Amino acid sequence: MYMNGYRCFACTTVQPVDFAGFLCPVCGGNLDITYDYTSATKEIAGGFGDGRRQLFRYQALLPVRKFATPFPLRVGGTPLYQASRLGKQAGLRSLYLKDETCNPSASFKDRASAVVIRRAIDNGAGIVSAASTGNAGSSLACLTAAHGLRSVIFVPETAPPAKLTQSLAYGARVLAVRGNYDDAFDLCLAASEEFGWFNRSTGFNPFTREGKKTCAFEIWEDLAGRIPDRVVVPSGDGNMLSGIWKGWTDLKAAGLIRHLPKIDCAQSTASDAICRTVRRLRDSDKAEMNWSQVSVDEVRASTLADSISVNRPRDGLAAVQAIFQSGGEAVAVTDEEILKAIPEMAGSTGVFPEPAAAAPWAAVKQMVKDEIIRPGELVVCIVSGSGLKDAARAGEAIGAPQVIDPSLAAVRDALCLEIQP
Ligand SMILES: [Zn+2]
Repeated sequence: MYMNGYRCFACTTVQPVDFAGFLCPVCGGNLDITYDYTSATKEIAGGFGDGRRQLFRYQALLPVRKFATPFPLRVGGTPLYQASRLGKQAGLRSLYLKDETCNPSASFKDRASAVVIRRAIDNGAGIVSAASTGNAGSSLACLTAAHGLRSVIFVPETAPPAKLTQSLAYGARVLAVRGNYDDAFDLCLAASEEFGWFNRSTGFNPFTREGKKTCAFEIWEDLAGRIPDRVVVPSGDGNMLSGIWKGWTDLKAAGLIRHLPKIDCAQSTASDAICRTVRRLRDSDKAEMNWSQVSVDEVRASTLADSISVNRPRDGLAAVQAIFQSGGEAVAVTDEEILKAIPEMAGSTGVFPEPAAAAPWAAVKQMVKDEIIRPGELVVCIVSGSGLKDAARAGEAIGAPQVIDPSLAAVRDALCLEIQP
C-alpha cells in the first residue's frame, strides 16, 4: 500500500498514515489521502495492466492492502458509451456517458462502499453505518451483504421507496429519520461514535473519495489516453466531484497524463449550495484563495432529485477547490429541466438515469447555450444512478401509457398516424 498519510483540505495540516480519526484534529476539516507517488508510479508504469475489469485493479493508488480473496461482487469496470445522437441535440460532436448504473446496486456509490468496506474489515469492524439520501445506503447494504457484514443505514423518511426496499432486501437495518438528510447525517455520526460502528458517511469518511476516483481512471483508459475537455458531475455533498478530480490529479501525479480536464458541477437550482459558493468566490475576485478561510454556503434544499438534495455539502470545500483548480463551471438547472433530460437521455442512448443522474446532461445543454462548451469539446457526463431507483419521478416527465381496448381497431386508432403507409 502506497498511502502515506492525510492532508486537511482547509488548513493543509498533515497526519501520519496510522492516524485513526476521519477529520482534521486541528480544524475539523475533511482529510485528503496522500500517497508515495514515486513508489506507486514504479508499479503502474505503463498503465494498470489488464486483469478483470473492477476497481481493485487500481490497488497501487488505493488506500487498501492487497487482499488474498477477490472482492465478492464486480464494482467498477462500467461502460463508457459514446452518445452521438444525444450530443447532436445540443450540437456536440463528442459526448460520452459513463454508465454507473451497471454497478452492483445500480449506482456510482458502490465505488466508495467497496473501498470503505475493505478498510472496515482491516479495522475489525463488524457493523458499518451510513447516512444516505438513498443510494449510498443501498450501496453499503448491498456490499456488506456480499461480505456477511452488518449495516445500519440512516435515511431521511422521504427517501424514494425503491431505494429503501433495496436496502431492506439486502438485510440492512434501515432507520428512516423524521427530518432531512442533514438530520440523518448528524444522527448517524452520533450513533456511530456511541456504538463503535465504522461510519461510511460521505464527506466525513476520507476513504469514499478514494473509491470514487477510480471512475476517472476508467474514463482515461476507455478513451485510450485522450483527456476529456470536461467531466460533468452531479453534485449534492460534493464528494463525487472531489473524487473524480482526485482521480485525474492522481494520474498526473503518477506521470500517466500531462494535462487535466475541467470538472463541472451540475446541481439543481433547488439545491445549489456549491454553485452559490463558487459564484460568491468568483465575484470576490481574489487572486489567491485562502482555503482555510473559505466557508461553503448552506441552502434549504427542496429538489426532487433526491440524490443531490443537500442543505450543507459535507465535502463542499474539496468540491469547490476542484472546480477552481480545474477551471470548471458550477451550473444549476431547474427541476423541470432535470425531469425533461431523463427521457431525452433514455430515448437517445438506452441509458435510463435517475433525476440526479440526468442533471449533467441538463447542465451540458445550458453550458452549450451559454457558449461555455464549444461544439468540438470532448464531454463526459457521469450517469450516477439508475432511473429504476426512482421511476415515480421519471414518470412525472414521461407520463403514463395509453390504455386501449383489446382489439386491432383500437391499435389502429391509437397508432393511426405512425403506421400510415
Ligand atoms: Zn485542518
